[in-house]
Amino acid sequence: MFCKACGKEVMDTAVICTGCGSSTTGSIPGAGMSEESISKLIMWGWLGACLLPIVGLVIGIVLCVKGKINHGIGQVVVSLFSWAFWAAFVTACFAGMAASA
Ligand SMILES: [Zn+2]
Repeated sequence: MFCKACGKEVMDTAVICTGCGSSTTGSIPGAGMSEESISKLIMWGWLGACLLPIVGLVIGIVLCVKGKINHGIGQVVVSLFSWAFWAAFVTACFAGMAASA
């Protein structure tokens, strides 16, 4: 069989790919996510949207793909606002440091 992660041919009895170390028995990541892991993803997405915009943005897009359009779009929008906020905040900090130096 072939590794689902990297495509390298591995022995049929192999549990772990010798090429990349991925599990050969697991399904393709994210393909069969349970409702529980989706809810966790939604939670992390909102957290990320506020604190780490890039994370919120990525999770938001993933949620859109998974059919959680409301949460997904919400997180993408919040992430973009949050991103603008952090960018302005960091710029202001650097400007402040430059001014006081
Ligand atoms: Zn592999």
